[in-house]
Amino acid sequence: MTSPPEASASSRPGAHPDGPAVDAADRYDVLVVGAGFGGLYALHRSREAGLRTLGVEAGADVGGTWYWNRYPGARCDVESIDYSYSFDPVLEKEWRWTERYATQPEIRSYADHVADRYALREHLRLNTRVTALRYRSESADWTATLATGDGTDEVRARFVVMATGSLSIPLTPDLPGLADFEGTVLYTADWPEDGADVDGQRVGIIGTGSSGIQSLPILAEQAGQVTVFQRSPNYSVPAFNRQIPDDEWQQVLAGYRDRRAKSLYSGAGTPHDTVNDDALTMYPALVRAALESRWRDGGVLFGKTFYNQALNQDVNDLARRFAEEKIRLVIDDPAVADDLIPTDHPLGTKRICTDSGYFQAYNRDNVALVNLRRDPIVTVTAGGIRTESGDHPLDVLVFATGFDAMTGAIMRIDIVGADGVRVADVWADGPLTYLGMAIPGLPNLFAVNGPGSPSVLANMVLSAEQQVEWLADLFSYCGAHGIDEVACRDDAAVTWTEHVDQVASATLFVRANSWYLGSNVEGKKRVFMPYIGGFGNYRARCDQVAAHDYEGFVLTRIAGQS
Ligand code: FAD
Ligand code: NAP
Repeated sequence: MTSPPEASASSRPGAHPDGPAVDAADRYDVLVVGAGFGGLYALHRSREAGLRTLGVEAGADVGGTWYWNRYPGARCDVESIDYSYSFDPVLEKEWRWTERYATQPEIRSYADHVADRYALREHLRLNTRVTALRYRSESADWTATLATGDGTDEVRARFVVMATGSLSIPLTPDLPGLADFEGTVLYTADWPEDGADVDGQRVGIIGTGSSGIQSLPILAEQAGQVTVFQRSPNYSVPAFNRQIPDDEWQQVLAGYRDRRAKSLYSGAGTPHDTVNDDALTMYPALVRAALESRWRDGGVLFGKTFYNQALNQDVNDLARRFAEEKIRLVIDDPAVADDLIPTDHPLGTKRICTDSGYFQAYNRDNVALVNLRRDPIVTVTAGGIRTESGDHPLDVLVFATGFDAMTGAIMRIDIVGADGVRVADVWADGPLTYLGMAIPGLPNLFAVNGPGSPSVLANMVLSAEQQVEWLADLFSYCGAHGIDEVACRDDAAVTWTEHVDQVASATLFVRANSWYLGSNVEGKKRVFMPYIGGFGNYRARCDQVAAHDYEGFVLTRIAGQS
């Protein structure tokens, strides 16, 4: 099934051990930063178009999210058959997903397979972080500073694709006394490669978003005792995960192209429909049947049972009450259920978690819940966590505390564009983008799955594909028309960003303190960052811009270039 890679880059004379050697005097057509699903496809697509392309990845291997987030229980929450590349029907056919929601190791193997199958490692520097990017207007290109294990390198490229991830900068709270803790500290977003032995240990988990929720049931099975320190409860819907039997797989293969076609112009990059009737005027038994049916579909889909569930509080309340009922049914202690049911946000306005036995884990004798809203952390001690009510002895402390989402990875790079424009200044009041890809003042640099695009509100493999393909077309257009510099117009970026904001403001999403709004990072401007107008609509808008000779961009030929 897997084609072996050609001679590995590191086995060739003069190559760097982590990938191809680079020379600052030499210029690439495209530099791709990040080797998650976005970066791998950008690397492949640019190479296929005959562009000289270098990929750079901070991690020791490909996979992005699925390389880093190795915690027990990690799985996708979009069905595997949808959460996978659609660009090559042969790839679709040769890769056999074994479970409805694949595990992290399986998704990581898939990323590996893709890297090998399309010989991408040849063109990829691993263990290498881009720390700075400087634009030179005279030559219309970027110089990137690369931090490697053994020093720094520089590399030049005409175009830069920032496939740096929207959930790739983990956050760890600065808890008092943390440095004194004598046990083991683990992070879901950088779990040890060889796993962590928690057998019989007293484990504390801080964080009850998807990462904490997925890991609890497995950790509870392995550990002696688990204490969950919960600040905010979250809605979680069972995955109803299962193996995909052969006959079903054959049906998937037969219908794959149709399934993809439906996803490409859908609201969220998956082939699922919502109920298009108004739940408030429907016969109550039909409302209940629709909710029951969606609940049984499993996971995040429940947040989109009715077309206006994220727009109308009364409709949302119908789904919310139904979810609450379901959650209460599986928790033995009503007082624990009270603590686990959210009351502070409409259902679906924070990402709904997709779990396998999360709420049931609280019925175990070895799992305890500490409600930090009632009983806040006072300090971490050498032997555990002290809350106002007393000490919780721990051997292991797990942080599942989220990410500096959407802007974090780009803002952590020292990026200076034309005329000294810094990304940190352009984005000081929230991310300003044109189509979620271009940033004013930073010509020839484009984000994939960035703010201002559907990204985290869609199936992100397909959203990355759509943007990468759009960018590949743009690069070809530049080649064909002798264009060296592509800069978005300030007014186009302002109009797009206002549109992103207006669409979000009409929804219930702005009522939640979510990472979509940057609420989880102290001091971060509260701006709804992803584009919520729908994946299909976004695609159509991007296509329209391209069809109108890239309206909103200034395309320039620089004397002496090309
Ligand atoms: P990433 O996979 O985040 O890759 C970005 C890469 O860029 C990283 O490897 C990072 O090391 C690298 N990088 C960042 N900065 C630099 C730098 N300066 N220099 C060099 N390298 C750099 N989405 C879904 O649609 N469905 C899911 O089921 C789903 N499950 C998820 C589960 C978890 C645990 C998490 C954290 C996220 C999940 N997501 C899911 C979102 C997920 O991030 C995307 O689906 C997708 O994997 C993103 O791919 P990407 O290539 O855009 O970014
Ligand atoms: P998250 O949803 O942001 O959750 C972080 C958790 O940590 C929250 O419960 C938060 O509480 C808590 N927290 C943060 N700082 C804290 C502190 N100082 N004290 C106590 N609690 C603190 O992060 P995540 O779980 O990693 O998920 C992020 C996103 O990644 C998800 O929304 C999803 O898009 C994706 N993801 C998907 C899957 C999947 O199912 N495939 C799995 C994991 C992640 P507050 O809410 O009170 O801030």
